[in-house]
Amino acid sequence: MWHYHGSYGFRHTDPKYPFGIRTKRLPDWLPGTGPRGDVRMPWILLDRRGRRFANEYDPYLQDTGARTLGRYDPLVQDYAALPAWLIADSEGTKLYSFGRPTSNERGIAYEWSADNETEIASGILQRASSIEALAQAIGVPGHKLAATVEDWNAACAAQRDDDWGRPPSSMMPIVKPPFTYAAVWPIVSNTQGGPVHDSRQRVLNADGKPIPGLYSAGELGSVFGHLYLSGGNIAECFVGGRIAGREAALRGRG
Ligand SMILES: Cc1cc2nc3c(=O)[nH]c(=O)nc-3n(C[C@H](O)[C@H](O)[C@H](O)COP(=O)(O)OP(=O)(O)OC[C@H]3O[C@@H](n4cnc5c(N)ncnc54)[C@H](O)[C@@H]3O)c2cc1C
Repeated sequence: MWHYHGSYGFRHTDPKYPFGIRTKRLPDWLPGTGPRGDVRMPWILLDRRGRRFANEYDPYLQDTGARTLGRYDPLVQDYAALPAWLIADSEGTKLYSFGRPTSNERGIAYEWSADNETEIASGILQRASSIEALAQAIGVPGHKLAATVEDWNAACAAQRDDDWGRPPSSMMPIVKPPFTYAAVWPIVSNTQGGPVHDSRQRVLNADGKPIPGLYSAGELGSVFGHLYLSGGNIAECFVGGRIAGREAALRGRG
């Protein structure tokens, strides 16, 4: 496996629910075109030192969102944003469900409430009455968190995020208590990997030489890796399968 795709999200407090829960799936967008103008994201993400560290609404977030949480900080010999902290104010919390659970396992399902209140009651989300209380809860000095929030609110007023390039239309200030917060983690939605093959779908050994008679087709060993394929899987299945089949048939003949 050489890569996984995923965004960021929550852990359920009920141990019987074994999956991560992605944040609400906002429309993906691509550089150059920008996101839809009416999409708002009420939260920002902070690292463990209380600083923003990424564009919370990066292009193709369902693939790229998890990546920024993975930075290892050699200065403190620990991961800088594992977990990261999602924070929002009371206005933002009313906007929509923060989480969008998905699972495919029979008998395991979770419905997130429309106003996030059930999750606040169950502890998936938490509530703090002031910035000072929030800082204490996430283990960050109060003045640092206050400065981060102040900078963010100024960026919202100016409609410009010079630090991380958050799309202006998505920006919402964090002003009105109580504040909502939660630990967020990388969420895996798809993996990319498998044996390496050449353009004739022949599986290669560790020295890059074809293993006689062994072909691959489909998503296994996909040509896609560094970015989400966005609909290209099925096409690759058709193309790679046809090539592998032809190669195998020709080999049999001769
Ligand atoms: C929720 C979801 C949405 C998706 N949406 C899209 C999309 O919009 N566009 C797109 O292009 N792609 C999409 N994909 C990806 C696409 O469906 C897959 O890439 C594609 O189906 C992979 O085909 P495959 O033949 O390589 O593998 P699979 O379809 O997984 O086939 C592998 C088969 O091997 C069988 N098998 C496993 N082990 C054994 C064994 N030991 N012996 C015998 N048989 C075995 C399995 O039962 C399975 O039938 C989506 C996938 C998911 C899960």
